[in-house]
Amino acid sequence: MYEVYALKYGERDTTACQFFYREASHEPITLHFYIWLILGGPEPVLVDTGFREDDAAARGIRNYVSPAAMVARLGVKPETIPIALISHLHWDHWAGHALFPAAEFWIQKEEVAFWTGAAARYEAYKALANAPALGSLVTLSYGNRVRLIEGEREIFPGLRVHWVGGHTAGLQIVSVETARGRVVLTSDASHFFRNVERYQPVQIITSLPQMLAAFDTIHALAGSEKLIVAGHDPEVAGRFTVVQPGVVRIA
Ligand SMILES: [Zn+2]
Repeated sequence: MYEVYALKYGERDTTACQFFYREASHEPITLHFYIWLILGGPEPVLVDTGFREDDAAARGIRNYVSPAAMVARLGVKPETIPIALISHLHWDHWAGHALFPAAEFWIQKEEVAFWTGAAARYEAYKALANAPALGSLVTLSYGNRVRLIEGEREIFPGLRVHWVGGHTAGLQIVSVETARGRVVLTSDASHFFRNVERYQPVQIITSLPQMLAAFDTIHALAGSEKLIVAGHDPEVAGRFTVVQPGVVRIA
């Protein structure tokens, strides 16, 4: 049976109006930055790579810890991780890929097409990218370290990715069968629990209908156990079990 961990490696303060779609409130909110680690299968599987010190400094991140150091806290050597599922290619999910030098990166084909295509150069999207990290997709691909996925795919029995789009063109979420039931790692299909629970989108969007449909997909996958893990919500630590600083055991 799989074990699932959320590993927090940074924080940033913002306001609700900056973040939720057509939200008037200036209420302060804090984003937590996570990667996720799935143990108990044939190999450890990482979900997303986080970012490195340069982005942490440039983008005003508090309490930054290297995602590689967070993985090591669970007794897993970051340099040996064989598979990293990439939810999407925004800077905070992809720019840390070099911290995991043995990993094969599983990414939706549509996500790579978007960030190497015509729309990504506009400021509305470019600000969410780390261009050199995106450029390295070519080198990684030539080195057989990128696996392109279309739609839904089983990684190992009971561990799957599912394309949802919405927040980005090729956003994928992850479902994992555990002793507690099926865990759904939403990543940025639902930054906060509030997104998926109240059907309130964020304002970073490639398709609003897809983003709303993603909430349906998350609920359908999660079933009655509702083991939904929001992508940036500090409340993850309140709903699940903190086992050491920054390390939350989901199941
Ligand atoms: Zn994010």
